[in-house]
Amino acid sequence: MSWYLKESLQKTVAAEQGTLVYAPGSRRPMALVYPNTYHVGMSNLGLHIIYEQINSRGDTACERLFLPDKKTIGEYSRTNTPLLTLENQLPLYEFPLIAFAVSFEMDYFNLLTILMLGKVPMVAAERGEGDPLVIIGGPCATFNPEPLADFVDACIIGEGEEVMQDFLDSYYDSLQQGLPREELLLRLAQIEGVYVPRFYQPVYAADGSIERYERQSVVPAKVNRRYIKDLGKYPAQTVIVTSETEFKDMYLIEVARGCGRHCRFCMAGYCFRNPRVHSLAQIAESVKRAKLFKAKVGLMGASLTLSINPFIPKPFTPFQWLPMASMEEVSSSLKYIQTTLKKRKGVEVLIEQPKEAYIQSVLARGDRRLGQVLLTAVASGGVKGWKQALKAHKVDEKFYLYRPRGEAEVLPWDNLSMGFDKSYLLAEYHQAQDEKYTPPCSAGCKRCGVCQ
Ligand code: SF4
Ligand code: SF4
Repeated sequence: MSWYLKESLQKTVAAEQGTLVYAPGSRRPMALVYPNTYHVGMSNLGLHIIYEQINSRGDTACERLFLPDKKTIGEYSRTNTPLLTLENQLPLYEFPLIAFAVSFEMDYFNLLTILMLGKVPMVAAERGEGDPLVIIGGPCATFNPEPLADFVDACIIGEGEEVMQDFLDSYYDSLQQGLPREELLLRLAQIEGVYVPRFYQPVYAADGSIERYERQSVVPAKVNRRYIKDLGKYPAQTVIVTSETEFKDMYLIEVARGCGRHCRFCMAGYCFRNPRVHSLAQIAESVKRAKLFKAKVGLMGASLTLSINPFIPKPFTPFQWLPMASMEEVSSSLKYIQTTLKKRKGVEVLIEQPKEAYIQSVLARGDRRLGQVLLTAVASGGVKGWKQALKAHKVDEKFYLYRPRGEAEVLPWDNLSMGFDKSYLLAEYHQAQDEKYTPPCSAGCKRCGVCQ
């Protein structure tokens, strides 16, 4: 154990306001992991919300863990210390339950690195009775968890607030009954919004596409996304105030969730339907709480920052059947935008490296066969080992990137439902081809199937 590491984690906690620390042994421990740095993770309001939700149960102590920076990882390795949580500096492998919040595909590499450095068996099938249960939630788990299927025991589909409560109730009850791991997972798979990938095995056709999924008969044919109907039950705001975030000491308050504009390229618009707002009274309450923390208010400047990313046709959008544009095409378009906008004063253009977008695209639209590629890449240093790992496993990225998917094809994410049928997306796809407009969500609308 490295005292330097322990001390630096303690210093981080000491610089925070609002942290919930419980004495080890006083509650059931659970690790909440954000597979990126403290700075990135603590800037994510979703992480604050779920941290508070879990701790508010009264029986669970939620401890956070983030990906350390390169220098600190070196210190962990040098001292042979397993990754430690922030609150009580406990080794990751000691937690019976580990939950990852996954917001970005590129963090899949970090997720595996954290399991490895936390000394948790990485492959779910190799974890035995005494090993931790590894679950994932967040946008990536919701729209396509398949590339991570080999490494996770369960996935939370949709908004985690209510699912996590049902999950923990059922999990603790199963532990009390002494259920073996497999039976416990079968029981968890009965909860609406919980997907247990091992009970859905893909069968591949000769052309490499998925022919069908073979499912254990006792698990649901489709796992439905859960979402909160009444946001009033869940005020959503900063829980831990720290200066080490994108927003510095700012106190974030969620005003609305979901978007009803129906932009056909937007995964968030489809996977977080329908649009909901917090009441004014609730927002006023949150503002009062912000004042207790003496949190700052930030004012935006008059300049404009434009962030341009290559288009990735995402699952559960009407464009999910489309191939991605070639790297040459994307690069020349980006170059054109950059040179045109350069001449304009006050406009800052941020352009993502197209190379990374192609890895992201394979992972966003990929299937379970990418698990072995990820594992090999992580063993040889992470993202930089990706190309080599694809080669080693004879996986052709073009298959995932440039192949138009057949309208009748089984897609990797077909075990999940966002609340609307494939036929709805297909109709929207055809509307887009015909250049037809779709009106936004409106009161009383039952169009897509999300609102019952
Ligand atoms: S649906 Fe459109 S307006 Fe709404 S979040 Fe997506 S891109 Fe933005
Ligand atoms: S049913 Fe209508 S209002 Fe509800 S999410 Fe779908 S399109 Fe929007």
